[in-house]
Amino acid sequence: MRSSYAIGVDVGGTRIAVGLVERKGRIIKDAKSLTPKGGPFAIVDEVIDMVAEVSDVVKQGEIVGIGIGLPAQIDFARQSVEFCTNLPLAGVDVRSLVMSRLRHHVTMDNDGNMAAFGESKYGAAKGVRHFAMITLGTGVGGGMFIGGDPYRGFRGLGGEIGHMVVQLDGPPCPCGGNGHVESYLGRPAIAAKGRDVASTHRGRSILEMAGGDVNVITAEDVIKASFAGDEAATEILMEAGVVLGKTLVGIVNLLNPQRIVVGGGIGEACPFMIDRAAEVIGAEALAGRRDVRVVPAELGNDAGVLGAAALAFEESDSKEGLNR
Ligand SMILES: [Zn+2]
Repeated sequence: MRSSYAIGVDVGGTRIAVGLVERKGRIIKDAKSLTPKGGPFAIVDEVIDMVAEVSDVVKQGEIVGIGIGLPAQIDFARQSVEFCTNLPLAGVDVRSLVMSRLRHHVTMDNDGNMAAFGESKYGAAKGVRHFAMITLGTGVGGGMFIGGDPYRGFRGLGGEIGHMVVQLDGPPCPCGGNGHVESYLGRPAIAAKGRDVASTHRGRSILEMAGGDVNVITAEDVIKASFAGDEAATEILMEAGVVLGKTLVGIVNLLNPQRIVVGGGIGEACPFMIDRAAEVIGAEALAGRRDVRVVPAELGNDAGVLGAAALAFEESDSKEGLNR
């Protein structure tokens, strides 16, 4: 018999969200907390406590398993954390630590793939077999589904759309590379462009949004200034839309997806950036591929939790032979 619930865990650099999710994607009970700073075991302990907290409203036998999304490079086949820049989890056997304390199957994946899983099962890519997801936040991540299945590459490390090169010898990327998509579209990059123009007449409302202190300007201040009519802010975001579009032209030419979903805090706050990217694709993608639809993500703040739960359902169903 198919169990009815999965637990989705979304571990971020600053926050952890956990949800008990029913099969159709409704979150029955959730818990949120700040990510502990006390090292890897503090993070794992927090996750275990939060899972216990949300799962006490149903029978344990009704839970198919736990999905855990991490802001990390994950070797999916080995279920190991290879690199993790924002949290001290590299080399930590998170899965075994959680499974030893909670008697549920655990599957880990990176946050970009989780977002793609969530949109595939419950959101903007429901029923779409060929799509790519790009998430614009502090980092730029992504995932892709080919023929109805996630494509993770040889060791499960694929899908890093944010680290494709868009400019030879371009600005440094937090990963150590240069000229990557994230060097242009990550929050720090957009904030830096905002700081550059904030002291000029045209960018003054960016400065106002930051309370007059140029040093604390964020990407969100640039977005707010743009909505308030600031031309310099709008220019920054339209240029970002062009970079996004050029990046997606490469993906469209390579994969010929039916749909592209743009998510993450920055993507969701900037619909006109998505429209600009779609225009670039319409003008520049190779012939025959331009009917791809570029759409905003639908799951918002719940994307990580719902995606992790979707993966837990998927893993459980494929083991039981229900999907194949
Ligand atoms: Zn990079």
